Amino acid sequence: MMNGKEYIESLRGLNREVYFLGRKIKNVVDEPMFQPHIHTAAMTYELAHEPEYQEIMTAVSHVTGERINRFTHIHHSIDDLVKKVRMMRLLGQKTGTCFQRCVGLDGLNAVYVTSYDIDQKYGTDYHERFRDYLLQVQENDWMPSGAMTDARGDRSRRPSMQQHPDAYLHIKERLDDGIIVSGMKAHITGAVNSHEILVMPTRTMSEEDADFALSFALPADTEGVSYIFSRQTNDTRRLDGVLDGGNPKYGIVGGEAVIVFKDVFVPWERVFMAGEYDFTTELVETFAGYHRSNYGGCKVGLADVVIGGSNWIAEAHGVERSSHIVDKLTDMIAMAETCWSCTLACSYEGHKTPSGAYNIHPLLANVTKLNITRMVYEWMRLAQDIAGGKIITLPSEKDLENPEIRETLFECFAGKQGFSPLDIIRMLRLIENMSVGAGLPEAMHGAGSPAAQKIMIARRSGIEKKMELAKTVAGINRDDYFERIIGKDETTHWNEVKKKLRGRETEIY
Ligand code: SF4
Ligand code: FE
Repeated sequence: MMNGKEYIESLRGLNREVYFLGRKIKNVVDEPMFQPHIHTAAMTYELAHEPEYQEIMTAVSHVTGERINRFTHIHHSIDDLVKKVRMMRLLGQKTGTCFQRCVGLDGLNAVYVTSYDIDQKYGTDYHERFRDYLLQVQENDWMPSGAMTDARGDRSRRPSMQQHPDAYLHIKERLDDGIIVSGMKAHITGAVNSHEILVMPTRTMSEEDADFALSFALPADTEGVSYIFSRQTNDTRRLDGVLDGGNPKYGIVGGEAVIVFKDVFVPWERVFMAGEYDFTTELVETFAGYHRSNYGGCKVGLADVVIGGSNWIAEAHGVERSSHIVDKLTDMIAMAETCWSCTLACSYEGHKTPSGAYNIHPLLANVTKLNITRMVYEWMRLAQDIAGGKIITLPSEKDLENPEIRETLFECFAGKQGFSPLDIIRMLRLIENMSVGAGLPEAMHGAGSPAAQKIMIARRSGIEKKMELAKTVAGINRDDYFERIIGKDETTHWNEVKKKLRGRETEIY
């Protein structure tokens, strides 16, 4: 297992093509813009070496029996699923942002489960190939980015009907030793600081879209692959000094990028689905379920930080005993723990798949994520409320460095005795960063938008069974009604009615 420093050094060995703000970036590791994302992902490596967190952060590989980082593990028990979300909450607490590595973890588990099922139906050897790949991931402690969402172009048209064929990543050519692929994946978390790319289809595909039913893995610096890094709210602040960044070491959100594939060769041993369109639903839903269940872990870890920060700032301002502050903090805690309960339930209600890997409870995972899309906004709204208007009117770090105005600013932003004005500004910047920044829309759209969760909830709610339950409770049970109330079975009853009405043109019932 690598530690944080080794992970950062390992990225130097990758010579990838990255663009940002119109420039081609030579070295991702030393580029200030990428530092927070790299430091956050490094925490997933660093904590694995802390004895206190060993149980949560590491696991025993079912392939080799070796101890590995849990981010490369295939869940093999309910306990594994529970520890996974404990790991998410822990990392959220330590970094206050998205630590990116879960997308690859969920991709590994989803492809493991689905490749097994494809082989059962078609006699292919995708699962065996995937196990070989998994072994490499575990032995090298790689971080694969999970590349699912395609550019998608005109959403009213299927992948094969798009005006721009590269709107969806697809197979261009099948060769004896592999495939040639082209297309784009968008919003890919941790893309520029991962070792590998693990590709999955973005949606259910039909027969005409078979060339888009595609899963494979490649080294991040493969020829023909390039990255365009996204802008984030206030991102250039990290160039303006430590204070203005808010969460200067770990940043705002995961560090997303567009990944462009131009005639890229993928050898067959790295291909895990190539045309089996009838398994795209399973792969997409399995991945989405794992990732949606995570949000009750990672975002609740962030809530722990923002709740702590809100309480601290209330103390610094001398309002911590006001009943409305206590009420707001209590609401924040109750919402966060509700989401945590949801994610724990997803794990405890998990099940074994035919591959042997464990999957979470899909209905509960979608409910977890739907709650997150609402409650994160609510607890961040309350954090802003408690922090006060200062979070949007603070002076810059450069003004604080100016001796002519520094003391005036410190006087202006002072609080209760015993709290340094500089610390107050620091905490307010953190709350600003977490409650105003890109983390909010990420909580909304990451792992799929609310509408996607509602579709899944409706599909898996078991509404027919619920109607049966209601009918039983209401006594809407025909057999029971005829036997008990009328004293004969239904057919006999209606035959008697017919006899009475003989000769009349009446529609009965
Ligand atoms: Fe992990 Fe959460 Fe970031 Fe998704 S949003 S990658 S689950 S930290
Ligand atoms: Fe996310």
